[in-house]
Amino acid sequence: MSETRATSTDHTPDWRVQADCRRPGYYGTDHWFPTGTKTRADREQAADAKAICRECPVAMQCAQWALARREDDGIYGGLDVQQRASLTRKAVKLRLTDAQVASLIRAIWADDARGPLVDTYLRSTDQGEGGHVWWRGRKSSYTVGGRVFTPMQLAFEVGRGRAPEGPVRTSCGEPYCVASEHLTDGAMRWRHAHLTAAA
Ligand code: SF4
Ligand SMILES: [Zn+2]
Repeated sequence: MSETRATSTDHTPDWRVQADCRRPGYYGTDHWFPTGTKTRADREQAADAKAICRECPVAMQCAQWALARREDDGIYGGLDVQQRASLTRKAVKLRLTDAQVASLIRAIWADDARGPLVDTYLRSTDQGEGGHVWWRGRKSSYTVGGRVFTPMQLAFEVGRGRAPEGPVRTSCGEPYCVASEHLTDGAMRWRHAHLTAAA
């Protein structure tokens, strides 16, 4: 919800006062309105705007507001024009309820959040012998979508599709391997220990 397009002259719902895009530095800018999708700069701008939306406390209200108004430009609630158009087509064709549309919005957010993580993982790793994977980046932590990851945390989330709970460790005997299937988190080790004890 950039103030440049959705101005306070509209009927202003209360949720807008909590909008992250009204923060200093963003308020009144075109950050949520990349001029296209072809250039790398446009794609990075869109990805950054979406990442901010995903952490915005009113993202769901914003996305639903833009869908209801058939906004045909800009990013709202973490959804770009194409995503909103596709969601609208699906909602009409399948006669989806508001709750079902909200579930689809969350699914799009999850997919979009994962994309930059997967890109970082692919850019930073080499496949080794025996199914091991080596991290070739030199940094000990990486910031992706506003979150900070160690290489093992990042590899775990890419492979397992969820954030790790507790420390991530290798289970293959290679202390620096980041093959996601060779990584476990505290929750997995706890479950495994309890299942083993119960057997
Ligand atoms: S979800 Fe995005 S566009 Fe909507 S109010 Fe929040 S930051 Fe602004
Ligand atoms: Zn391994």
